[in-house]
Amino acid sequence: MADIENVIIVGSGPAGYTAALYTARANLNPLVIEGFFWGGLLQQTTEVENYPGFRDGIMGPELMQTMRDQAERFGTRFITDVASKVELATEPGGVHKVWIDDDVHLARTVILAMGAEHKKLGVPGEEELGGRGVSYCATCDAAFFKDKHIAVIGGGDSAMEEAIFLAKFGAKVHVVNRRAELRASKIMADRARSEATIEFVTPYVVEEFAAVEGQLPTLRLKHAEGGEDREIADVGSFIAIGHEPQSEIVAGQVPVDDEGYVKTEGRSTRTGLPGVFAAGDLVDHTYRQAVTAAGSGCQAALDAEWYIRDTPEIPTPEAMPEGDLAEAQWAQPEPSGVPVT
Ligand SMILES: Cc1cc2nc3c(=O)[nH]c(=O)nc-3n(C[C@H](O)[C@H](O)[C@H](O)COP(=O)(O)OP(=O)(O)OC[C@H]3O[C@@H](n4cnc5c(N)ncnc54)[C@H](O)[C@@H]3O)c2cc1C
Repeated sequence: MADIENVIIVGSGPAGYTAALYTARANLNPLVIEGFFWGGLLQQTTEVENYPGFRDGIMGPELMQTMRDQAERFGTRFITDVASKVELATEPGGVHKVWIDDDVHLARTVILAMGAEHKKLGVPGEEELGGRGVSYCATCDAAFFKDKHIAVIGGGDSAMEEAIFLAKFGAKVHVVNRRAELRASKIMADRARSEATIEFVTPYVVEEFAAVEGQLPTLRLKHAEGGEDREIADVGSFIAIGHEPQSEIVAGQVPVDDEGYVKTEGRSTRTGLPGVFAAGDLVDHTYRQAVTAAGSGCQAALDAEWYIRDTPEIPTPEAMPEGDLAEAQWAQPEPSGVPVT
């Protein structure tokens, strides 16, 4: 039987690597199961200008390599493979099981940090032009399209929010939706409609993003009912049709919401199962930024440390740093479920 790990971290974006850094520095010798595509979503982007500490920005892959190296420096071990199945214990001190194909790994705590993928349109040009005129994150990339034409694809609240935000940057924002009516709430749709630079292009479906030498791509559209073609040239496009949290392997074991995001208790990263914590975009409908994911990875690491230390059924590793129990406030939720602050 395999040894019991103190901490297994599943996922390798800013949340997973930050959790690894903190648990490694607490001498918990973490094991990260990082997936084949290690480094998370920032591997798909070019320049990251809003991660604190890098005045001139940093390339996404370089940032993730640096985070990985920093975690490794303190003893983190990595398996570059996908966790295929988990069996999470339900009793305090219980041993959790994480499989990579037929290999089972045992752990006292598990930190889930599998992220959330952007839903894709699946049309020609989308993949090739990702980061070169096609984006999934207005907060991240808006500044690259200052005074340019911008298209937002989608008709829900997130699309409206992106469009309103982008209206501050673009010469014009075209909101493209496949239906004439929007799925967005009335208040969000009204706010978008009241922006002078936002124009609604409905009902149109995206056919293709076409590369054009020396300028932004051309967006090729087709009328959803009449079939007429339409083009928007030299345009930066933001696809805002939703996210898919990567929570399948824990489905039915930890509580998830209607959209599949893992639910956590109050301001902690506790999932409701003893010794199982969740962080990053996997739990986050709202912020979805590298720095917020890293912050919650830190929280998950501290929650895991405190759980190990404060659970009588688990032998506290000798090398673990000592500390006062001020943080035990998180271990004792108020009867309402809201932790004491
Ligand atoms: C194109 C693009 C540009 C962006 N630019 C910025 C930016 O400039 N600034 C910013 O702050 N944010 C940016 N973001 C958002 C940012 O990347 C995310 O908020 C952040 O990466 C979330 O971190 P995470 O650790 O929660 O998850 P992720 O980064 O999604 O990492 C999750 C990792 O877990 C792995 N995984 C999933 N399932 C398993 C499994 N079963 N076993 C093992 N591994 C698994 C995945 O392969 C992935 O590597 C951008 C996002 C995109 C897509």
